[in-house]
Amino acid sequence: MAINAEAVVIGGGVMGCSILYNLAFRGVKNAVLLERELLGSGSTGRSSGAVRMHYSNEVHARMAWQSLRIFQNFDEIVGGECGFTETGYLVFSGEDDVEAFHSNVAMQQSAGIQTSIISRSDAQEIAPQFYLGDCPAIAYEPHSGHADSSATAAAYATRARQLGASIRLQTPATGIEVSGGKVTGIKIGEEVIETSAAVVATGPWSRRFLLQHGIDLPLEATRHEVIHLKRPVDLLPRHPGGGDIANMVYFRPEGADLTLVGNGNIEQSVDDPEVFAQRPTQSFIQEVWSRIARRIPLMENAEFSTGYAGLYTTTPDSHPVIDKVDGVEGLYICTGFSGHGFKLSPMVGVLVSELVLDGNATSIDISTLRMSRFKEGKLNMPAYGFRVLV
Ligand SMILES: Cc1cc2nc3c(=O)[nH]c(=O)nc-3n(C[C@H](O)[C@H](O)[C@H](O)COP(=O)(O)OP(=O)(O)OC[C@H]3O[C@@H](n4cnc5c(N)ncnc54)[C@H](O)[C@@H]3O)c2cc1C
Repeated sequence: MAINAEAVVIGGGVMGCSILYNLAFRGVKNAVLLERELLGSGSTGRSSGAVRMHYSNEVHARMAWQSLRIFQNFDEIVGGECGFTETGYLVFSGEDDVEAFHSNVAMQQSAGIQTSIISRSDAQEIAPQFYLGDCPAIAYEPHSGHADSSATAAAYATRARQLGASIRLQTPATGIEVSGGKVTGIKIGEEVIETSAAVVATGPWSRRFLLQHGIDLPLEATRHEVIHLKRPVDLLPRHPGGGDIANMVYFRPEGADLTLVGNGNIEQSVDDPEVFAQRPTQSFIQEVWSRIARRIPLMENAEFSTGYAGLYTTTPDSHPVIDKVDGVEGLYICTGFSGHGFKLSPMVGVLVSELVLDGNATSIDISTLRMSRFKEGKLNMPAYGFRVLV
């Protein structure tokens, strides 16, 4: 049976849902999203949800900054709840990164981002319980925080449905049909959805799916662990979010009494995104706990609450691929967001809808995210060795 759709989005993570919404918002009447499992069941449902602007490259800084405005006004702009919570965000430089750190903050400021290098005494007022004796430079973003990645994906999906899009769960796309150099349909087993536009937003499954269609991109699924520690709330009732390059750890408050902690350099390659250990390892818990306690000494007295692992989709330069595929009209790729894609997702949807409907992304120059950069050897090398703060 052939079903017609103006566009098909493959993958129901936060990227696919944001793209679907933006296509529907721009007037695409019968866009369809296919999800092999459930919405948010890939990287999105495991995301730490940090929303901050500190990047070493302009394309991400601008995407994060414009996305922040959408997170802050989500109900008004999109409709529904994304769970954005403003906590303020501190970024701590390492000894070797001071020069890059200063120039990155200057770049962010020139892009209009509200961030500044602050003194240790100002940082101590913002975070009285933090140890700051080892900090060569500290940046502060007063309006950053975190949001709920599953809720964001669900809200985009709900709004897209209200605007006429449809979503098919537990429906893996099995292939893309191409004829005469143009996309003609998406296969779901024996069924075909006839369409002239397909967006591949398949997260950690992307390498395998794209290879099936002769597209060989250096994408890798990598496993990352996160723990939640119950902090001593009488002594540490609250704290801002933070990215700590010196200790290779990131953190944020979660709910009333938990602190979520992840890391910037411990990862493990995963062959099959269906099969990976979901629970954290003892060695990870010990290592990351000792790292957070170096920045927030009171966390030594915290209690372990829970932990889990999720998958990043990494590229050699930790930048995603957002591009149309040369030689296949109507095929678009949106993947490879490593451990920092959630905060970009509102603008990713806008930009991909521009690629599909206008032929080019115009809101922000995303040419550095083109897929050909790997073959050209023009990688966007991050300033820090921190997988998340690229
Ligand atoms: C532990 C962890 C912590 C993170 N922390 C942060 C953070 O603090 N801040 C931040 O900004 N980012 C963070 N990230 C990154 C962020 O979560 C991801 O970049 C983002 O969720 C990627 O979304 P996605 O839609 O590209 O991928 P996914 O969420 O993986 O979605 C892809 C979807 O495609 C589906 N799919 C695959 N193949 C097919 C097929 N053939 N047919 C149909 N469907 C298919 C999958 O089932 C999946 O649901 C974190 C990620 C992890 C894992």
